[in-house]
Amino acid sequence: MMQENKAHRNTQQRAIILEELNKLKSHPTASELYEIVRKRLPKISLGTVYRNLEFLTEAGIIQRLELSGSESRFDGTAYRHNHIHCMLCGRVDDLMGLPDDPVVKRPKIIDGYRVAGYHLEFYGTCPACLEIEPGH
Ligand SMILES: [Zn+2]
Ligand SMILES: [Zn+2]
Repeated sequence: MMQENKAHRNTQQRAIILEELNKLKSHPTASELYEIVRKRLPKISLGTVYRNLEFLTEAGIIQRLELSGSESRFDGTAYRHNHIHCMLCGRVDDLMGLPDDPVVKRPKIIDGYRVAGYHLEFYGTCPACLEIEPGH
């Protein structure tokens, strides 16, 4: 097609961003994802990647992880799960070996509040860093 349709191009960009995000298990920042998406879409800007990530987050398709002291990271899935970040190398992984979520499973009244959810932050030393520095 000689005349590229703008709306179509935007949809295509968004699909590629989502596809690349889903390939990664590393919960990348917008700039990390931009470096990867750029290989397929050389003309894309960091701003466009960021805006698409915002759009997908608002639409409930992906989630943005707010971890203290770090740039926002993105997870290609919307289902609720916990994350852990490594204090040594900064990587972020899913933390699946936890018991069932006590609040979300059954809404509870705690101290008069109906609790809708919570934000827990896990941190530690990842398996790779543990191998290098078993002392930590
Ligand atoms: Zn690590
Ligand atoms: Zn995750």
